[in-house]
Amino acid sequence: MSAPDNTTVPDEVRARHAELCRELDDHSYRYYLGNPIVSDAEYDQLMLELRGIEERHPILVSQDSPTQKVGAPISVDFAEVEHLVRMESLGNAFDSEELSAWADRASAEVPVDAYLCELKIDGLAVDLVYERGRLIRAATRGDGRVGEDITLNVRTIGVVPEQLDESARPAPELLEVRGEVFLPVEDFEKLNQRIAADGSHAPFANPRNAAAGSLRQKDPRVTATRPLSMIVHGVGAYTPAEGGEGTAFTSQSQAYTLLGEWGLPLSDRYKVVGTMDEVREYVAHYQEHRHDPAYEIDGIVVKVDDFSLQRRLGSTSRAPRWAIAYKYPPEEVTTKLVDIKVGVGRTGRVTPYGVMEPVLVAGSEVEFATLHNAQEVARKGVRIGDTIVLRKAGDVIPEIVGPVLDLRDGTEREFVMPERCPECGTELGQQKEGDVDLRCPNARSCPGQLRERVAFIAGRRALDIEALGYVAATALTQPLEPVEPALRDEGDLFDLTVEQLLPIRTHVLDPDTTEPKTDPKTGEPKVVSFFANMKGEPKKTVEKLFEQLEEAKDKPLWRVLVSLSIRHVGPRAAEDLARHFRSMDAIRAASEEELASVDGVGPTIARSIHEWFAVDWHAEIVRKWAAAGVRMEDEGQEPGSRVLEGVTVVVTGSLEGFSRDGAKEAVAECGGRATASVSKKTGFVVVGDAPGSKYDKAVKLGVPVLDEAGFRVLLEDGPEAAASLRINPVEEAPEG
Ligand code: NAD
Repeated sequence: MSAPDNTTVPDEVRARHAELCRELDDHSYRYYLGNPIVSDAEYDQLMLELRGIEERHPILVSQDSPTQKVGAPISVDFAEVEHLVRMESLGNAFDSEELSAWADRASAEVPVDAYLCELKIDGLAVDLVYERGRLIRAATRGDGRVGEDITLNVRTIGVVPEQLDESARPAPELLEVRGEVFLPVEDFEKLNQRIAADGSHAPFANPRNAAAGSLRQKDPRVTATRPLSMIVHGVGAYTPAEGGEGTAFTSQSQAYTLLGEWGLPLSDRYKVVGTMDEVREYVAHYQEHRHDPAYEIDGIVVKVDDFSLQRRLGSTSRAPRWAIAYKYPPEEVTTKLVDIKVGVGRTGRVTPYGVMEPVLVAGSEVEFATLHNAQEVARKGVRIGDTIVLRKAGDVIPEIVGPVLDLRDGTEREFVMPERCPECGTELGQQKEGDVDLRCPNARSCPGQLRERVAFIAGRRALDIEALGYVAATALTQPLEPVEPALRDEGDLFDLTVEQLLPIRTHVLDPDTTEPKTDPKTGEPKVVSFFANMKGEPKKTVEKLFEQLEEAKDKPLWRVLVSLSIRHVGPRAAEDLARHFRSMDAIRAASEEELASVDGVGPTIARSIHEWFAVDWHAEIVRKWAAAGVRMEDEGQEPGSRVLEGVTVVVTGSLEGFSRDGAKEAVAECGGRATASVSKKTGFVVVGDAPGSKYDKAVKLGVPVLDEAGFRVLLEDGPEAAASLRINPVEEAPEG
């Protein structure tokens, strides 16, 4: 890094600095109106750039710089209010090192022995003033000194007391508190549904924008229809009641206790801890449980608890030195919607999906997101070329939330749903009237549908044939000319021969887009000889493929059922069907009523199965598979010996004698249910090597933990026999 230079600032740096200041001011203003055009992550990035420039050229720092001030200029729609005590912003930490650096700086100045950790609510800051217990004013943060008078609007928020509760102690002469006004996620979703239905407003992109828009309504009657809430997290001016002994504020946590007694809304998720290790634990906990609270959070706020230490640490021009916001990775970003394409699924459903400029969100790079159907594209109002808001919350699939309307320049194009299948050209139709989905009716020979079905058969939820990946499925169903496809439908999958495979050449398709990948050198579509080596002999994968196809024939009946791609029949329903009927013949012979009466099946699945078997070429698949030796019956235990009926088991870490799926199947064969996450309702957690967090959770919740030997006893002799073999002590009672 170059040394700070106070004298010579290159023109281009000066210009960039001015540009960034302008941009950030503009973004702040739009943000506080609830109408941002960039994501918070982009805003933070611009702010980092500005800070970088100012660190290298301190002469550019002025009072007016966005790095030095709080919030945004206030609008003329509301009266101005001067805060009694300045409202501040917060410094940010984006990783553990920055958090430690903050703590080190604070501890170097004062002896910190307690930190208060709390959630950083993604709402908007509001200041409340109570005189002798009565709410007299509410204001936005504004620029920190002067805010906007929104008293009438805040009075509509149910949790904000009009009058403080004096049953425990008298209300102070004067009390100024600040907190966050927000819209709970559930209410946000309902609000968006409501305004979409009555057309009164364009849907809000997220709860924060909805809260900002709702609170800054000129007509408080509109605010009253928006279920806003508030949590208080700070104190401004304060004069205790005359003779109000014991009501001096000594620490953040003690103040919360008093504010709570006066009836102010507080969070019950804050925690006071003694060490930075515990702070990091809190940060890590909520990073994993970010969606547990009813409202959105964008990080954690850590505060030095003791008020005298807070005073000694003081503030910079915009933020206290005694607090820091640890920001979680953004779950919402903006990016360009480059195109909307359509793909064909294994059941013929034709689905539009967005192709975006790749963008990092919630820790992974995202380039594609489904748009489900044409109605959904219309509902979201997105056009090709739009800048869009993309959201990926935790492990959830990325979702295109909507367009940033203010950034449209007129070059955007409406998406038109094609009338013909993009893979086989057949006219698309609805399966029945009123269906939102369009389907390609050419189920048997649409190459796209067949490719997807074959890839699905090989998937982990079905027959789990590792050597039959997406490229192999493409090669078998869509070889390049002049070779004919080895499969006309999946009926011949178990009758393939080496001779059929060797001449096949194919494009390598991207499974997300089903478009051929291109060779980076030539720009041409990549062509591979998938099954043959350079000399035209079988590759190792061919041997593996035949071996694994052989093994697949003996997989349990439910997996065979799932592999048939019968609509609505996933692993859960297939397991229930296999358990009940025990053979493919019995399932085929069952009436719709008989099928529907099976636990976990129901009329929709029953009808779907019935209709599936009625199609000639479907019945032929089953006949061919049976002739090839695919399992069509479950042997195993009779219902009487189903020792794990009603018991849920979580298997974690690797076991020696079972594959992960094998262990799950063993549980299912004994009538039990294998699930992925540990809760109080889990019967047993089975741990192998490197069990990870599920083991910790089981211990915490007091769920019995078994090793592999205990697991075998569980499968043979049932829960009672296994209970005595638990490896975690019984005394570790559930927490909380
Ligand atoms: P901030 O949101 O990073 O932190 C300060 C605010 O956090 C406080 O004013 C307070 O209201 C709030 N807060 C929530 N929970 C809290 C708690 N428990 N204790 C204390 N405070 C709590 O800072 P800011 O100055 O309000 O805004 C800057 C941030 O806002 C940016 O980092 C960016 O994420 C976002 N922003 C986005 C845009 C945009 O265009 N997308 C524009 C401006 C700002």
